[in-house]
Amino acid sequence: PPGKKVLIVYAHQEPKSFNGSLKSIAEEELSKQGCSVTVSDLYAMQFEPRTTRNDIVGCLHNSEEFKYVVEAREAYKRGALSNDIIEEQKKVQEADLLIFQFPLYWFSMPAIMKGWVDRVFVPGFAFELPKHYDSGLLKNKLALFSFTTGGSKEVYTKGGMSGDIRYILWPMQHGIMHFCGIKVLAPHICFAPDYASEKERKEMLTAWAQRLKTLWKEEPINCSPEWYFE
Ligand code: FAD
Ligand code: ZN
Repeated sequence: PPGKKVLIVYAHQEPKSFNGSLKSIAEEELSKQGCSVTVSDLYAMQFEPRTTRNDIVGCLHNSEEFKYVVEAREAYKRGALSNDIIEEQKKVQEADLLIFQFPLYWFSMPAIMKGWVDRVFVPGFAFELPKHYDSGLLKNKLALFSFTTGGSKEVYTKGGMSGDIRYILWPMQHGIMHFCGIKVLAPHICFAPDYASEKERKEMLTAWAQRLKTLWKEEPINCSPEWYFE
């Protein structure tokens, strides 16, 4: 609906890729609905995925022994995180919905996207123990994982070679989003676009556009161990 803010965190090197098409569809469809859409195109931004002392501007809290969590939390509090992190935190803070668009890499998100999470979701900003899970600091936001695979749908089932695709979603949906208080919408998975026919690919893209039309009516999943493992 008009006024909703969406951040698409996107990790693909090639605009003409299937992921690039999925990203563009979300951008167009949600804009058409009157949402304001921001894209963090991580490869195009050459986003730094490493957590290093360069992330802290100026003096360290403890210059004797570097501890990233401590330094990042302190730097967040005094506004001394590096600019690229602050920019992304502003986008997250403003967003009602985060869409993560990526190709599955080794049962997970590509390193550049994992690095985005590592550097942006710092303590004090995304959580602050004991404020985590349902009381995480990013509550009242939604997240949606939209990704593609090389493996087929059959391979990613309970009895299949790679196991249920939901096992893979546990670290990302529960371990990251839910941990920070973000509610999770059902994932959107395009299995093996590489091996699909042109017609099947078009159908997958249309299905994504269709889903986006009624996205704001969806209820979040019940993000608990049962959803993943039962
Ligand atoms: P593309 O190759 O870009 O797209 C497929 C086809 O769709 C292309 O021919 C493209 O031209 C076409 N296309 C693009 N846009 C359109 C359009 N609008 N209409 C019609 N056709 C279009 N897979 C797994 O399952 N598990 C893993 O653990 C895993 N680990 C990986 C690790 C690494 C390091 C790498 C590099 C790959 C891994 N893969 C894995 C495979 C990877 O997930 C797939 O290659 C990827 O998901 C495919 O998505 P893509 O966007 O790159 O596809
Ligand atoms: Zn959960």
